[in-house]
Amino acid sequence: MLQIHEITALRAQVADWKHQGLRVGFVPTMGNLHDGHFALLELAKSRCERVVSSIFVNPTQFGPNEDYARYPRTEQRDIDGLARNGCDVAFLPSADVMYPFGIKNYVQMHVPGITDILCGAHRPGHFNGVATVVARLFNMVQPDAAVFGRKDYQQLQVIRYMTREMSFPVEIIAAPTLREASGLAMSSRNQYLSDDERITALEVFRTLQFMRDACIAGISSDHIEQQAFERLEAKGFEVDYAEIRAEDLGRLARARGNARVALIAAKLGRTRLIDNLEFEIIS
Ligand code: AMP
Repeated sequence: MLQIHEITALRAQVADWKHQGLRVGFVPTMGNLHDGHFALLELAKSRCERVVSSIFVNPTQFGPNEDYARYPRTEQRDIDGLARNGCDVAFLPSADVMYPFGIKNYVQMHVPGITDILCGAHRPGHFNGVATVVARLFNMVQPDAAVFGRKDYQQLQVIRYMTREMSFPVEIIAAPTLREASGLAMSSRNQYLSDDERITALEVFRTLQFMRDACIAGISSDHIEQQAFERLEAKGFEVDYAEIRAEDLGRLARARGNARVALIAAKLGRTRLIDNLEFEIIS
């Protein structure tokens, strides 16, 4: 596996592959890689002949009181993991490569509408930062396809919208959420959890299952959301939201079709957990 830090070398490698007629896949990450990330890599490899993965902890997607400084950075272990899992290029840009004029006066992406709800409402500016870095990465890597996890459901919708609006020639591939045997969705932030919190954290997935089952049983979403909220609060979570939405994250009143998604974001101690569960209602 090649390790590349500069855009020129990256583009030369990708251009070379494309000249050979090889399809290039891309998996962006913030490092501290776990099996969920490696499953994305596997999916990229099944759809593309060559795969680039990036590691960059993006400062512009963290709010002023969020965990940017303490976000787990495990670069050497991550590089070893990428190599072991069949990645062809690890792209490791510095902050100067990503933001050549710094992060005070940088060109920003803003995806309207969808970034104002759910996590966007609780993390102002977060999705602008995500869209900004992903647009830059698409431009640097110039992949044919990019894989994103359904674990970050709203992020996936933001990326899809931006890609369509900006005509980026990149196929967006969604990967299923990888969970531990307990049901806990894998996340780099899980390592902030104490042993007790790890057990309490299972309540997020259980509550999502409760929301799904109640919705399929025809109970009103307001009632379900209220119960989900109370259930999580009773376990000690500080709940940002527990909602059922249409698959495009629109309100249920305007939903077309039967596809639904239950979404939760809640803090346990200092750790903010997000998870979601997609399902179909019976019409
Ligand atoms: P991150 O490093 O947290 O920014 O995540 C990089 C990519 O991995 C994103 O597309 C995430 O949605 C995806 N991802 C993170 N955790 C999981 C998981 N448990 N299952 C599937 N994809 C995941």
